[in-house]
Amino acid sequence: MDVTLPEGVGWTALVTAYARAQESRRPDRLFNDVWARAVIAQATRTRLDGAGLPAADGGSFWNDLASYAVIRTPFYDEHVRLGVADGCRQVVLLAAGFDGRAQRLDLPASTTVFELDTAPVLDFKNAALHTEGAAGPLVVARRTVATDLRGDWPAALREAGFDPTRPTVWLAEGLLMYLDSTECDQLLDNITALSAPGSRFVTEWSERNPAGEQSLVGYPDETERRAGELLGSLFRSGPAVSPQEWLDRHGWHSYEIDHLGARYRRHDRTTPWVYDPRHPQGLLVHLVAGIRRP
Ligand code: SAM
Repeated sequence: MDVTLPEGVGWTALVTAYARAQESRRPDRLFNDVWARAVIAQATRTRLDGAGLPAADGGSFWNDLASYAVIRTPFYDEHVRLGVADGCRQVVLLAAGFDGRAQRLDLPASTTVFELDTAPVLDFKNAALHTEGAAGPLVVARRTVATDLRGDWPAALREAGFDPTRPTVWLAEGLLMYLDSTECDQLLDNITALSAPGSRFVTEWSERNPAGEQSLVGYPDETERRAGELLGSLFRSGPAVSPQEWLDRHGWHSYEIDHLGARYRRHDRTTPWVYDPRHPQGLLVHLVAGIRRP
């Protein structure tokens, strides 16, 4: 099996898994992500320097970045559970990365989880789960689809058994910031065309692109600054309009719009200034859930 570490935008999936693996070890953890732990164990074996990941007591940049991935996770979990409680039996993880929801969420056995990402990410994930004995048996059906989400992924999804006549929960978690506004529109057009009434769409993006800003590159530590620059170089614009308008234009009713900074308070954790929109340099990161209009 291929154990080459994913690079470029695939590396961001590794950073997310690292954050979730760390969170899983906390006594007051918000979730326990067995798959993230397996992926990080494999990454550390593959490259003994920890695969370019920070030490356990990483600096402020890493802590803030890790907390972003951790705090958004329960928002997505809640909306997957709501959708499934409402009868959705297909869950599509767009840019699945090392997402562990197929294992972690106790979804009904009649659920199929589709994981879409690039081949290097999915190959690494499958190798890690296999090596760590974390691959299964799973209660749900899991289908992986190696594809580029800027291309004709709907055809690949259908080939993997996706049924557009059945309602679906779609997650685009940690994805839209790597797409420009035209690519975001195209992505949502494709999702809409595949969504039966009652389908849900959950996503997030930042009101402005922070590449080059203090929040990414203003760290005195050289490694942190370089990691911030790398991340910044991957960022694109995301959607061009407000969450409500974006979903509305594409045939969706946005039933929950929140922002990342507010979610820290909800979980009784301190909001880093970088995600506090009241701070002069803070980011407004939208968290958005919509339901397909009939
Ligand atoms: N959603 C996952 C999570 O929260 O754990 C992963 C998030 S990670 C920050 C971003 C993911 O987007 C990476 O796995 C990357 O490979 C994927 N990605 C970015 N652009 C993509 C594209 N055009 N096609 C497929 N995957 C893409």
